[in-house]
Amino acid sequence: MEKTKKDIRALTKEQLRDFFVSMGDKAFRGNQVYEWLWQKSAHSFEGMTNLSKKTREMLEGHFVINHIKVDQMQRSNDGTIKNAVRLHDGLIVESVLIPTETRTTACVSSQVGCSLDCKFCATSRLKRMRNLNPDEIYDQVVAIDNESRLYFERPLSNIVFMGMGEPLMNYNNVLKSIEKITSKEGLGMSPKRITVSTSGVPKMIKKMADEQVKFNLAVSLHSAIDEVRTSIMPFNEHFPLKDLRDALQYWYAKTKNRITYEYVVWNGINDTQQDVDALVRFCRFAPSKVNIIEYNPIDDGEFQQATSKAIAMYQQVLEANGITVTVRRSRGKDIDAACGQLANKS
Ligand code: SF4
Repeated sequence: MEKTKKDIRALTKEQLRDFFVSMGDKAFRGNQVYEWLWQKSAHSFEGMTNLSKKTREMLEGHFVINHIKVDQMQRSNDGTIKNAVRLHDGLIVESVLIPTETRTTACVSSQVGCSLDCKFCATSRLKRMRNLNPDEIYDQVVAIDNESRLYFERPLSNIVFMGMGEPLMNYNNVLKSIEKITSKEGLGMSPKRITVSTSGVPKMIKKMADEQVKFNLAVSLHSAIDEVRTSIMPFNEHFPLKDLRDALQYWYAKTKNRITYEYVVWNGINDTQQDVDALVRFCRFAPSKVNIIEYNPIDDGEFQQATSKAIAMYQQVLEANGITVTVRRSRGKDIDAACGQLANKS
């Protein structure tokens, strides 16, 4: 019965080698299958052409390959692509390809729904249904890499964990997926091209620092004043800014990597001189970059993008204090693929 078969991609290379030995075959057969599964992204045992028919049938009898399926692909006027991705149990997540002149970035999901409840974010309304497995994250990247080659004639260049979910609430699986993405037996991408974006889970930031991870860290900050941040990101009550800052200081001391802050300026919420001064005080301890991101309203219109005057004030004050700042226009708005808009609406 199909249901009792194990997902073969849950096995490590060592476990696959051991499996073949236990079946009276050679261990290197495990290497061949591992290469098919990860480097060649095989969707079936039948396509593993350097294995004998008998071996392929034996694998079919023991395992399944739980691949994701891109159920629907939407293309925006600006070239952005949004994939609605069906998982093996029928749940759907979304991932986005963002093209620019020089690069293609994949924005991938790490959870179905989200464990957190940021007021401005469409995903928070879905609640967390489950964490994604490493292979489900990896498959999103492969799907976008294929689309990048097909539509833009170049491979994927960057990955951001900024889709649905809080990646640090699915830490082990996110790290395992990055291991696969960066390994020679996977996609062989440099970790420097990968950014994990968190809303700020202090304990996990320290853990990443201890583990000396090589990818980049971005923090969705949105306010450096506790009362304001708690009102828009309620979990801030449990992980207040002081703890977040301690964790980031620890991260910087261990890694010496610049910290990127993602920041949206909203009308009447965080658009005053006091807000920008607090931001400067918060991030001055280490080399920092602030990305001011254009906001994409979700249905109820409670949050409105700040005026260009307020954004210019942020830019000027941050630059005057030696903090790198970029103002980012959002992409894929017409297909609900922009930051904070992913909500399985397609
Ligand atoms: S902004 Fe990120 S962490 Fe916050 S609810 Fe949305 S997906 Fe979750």
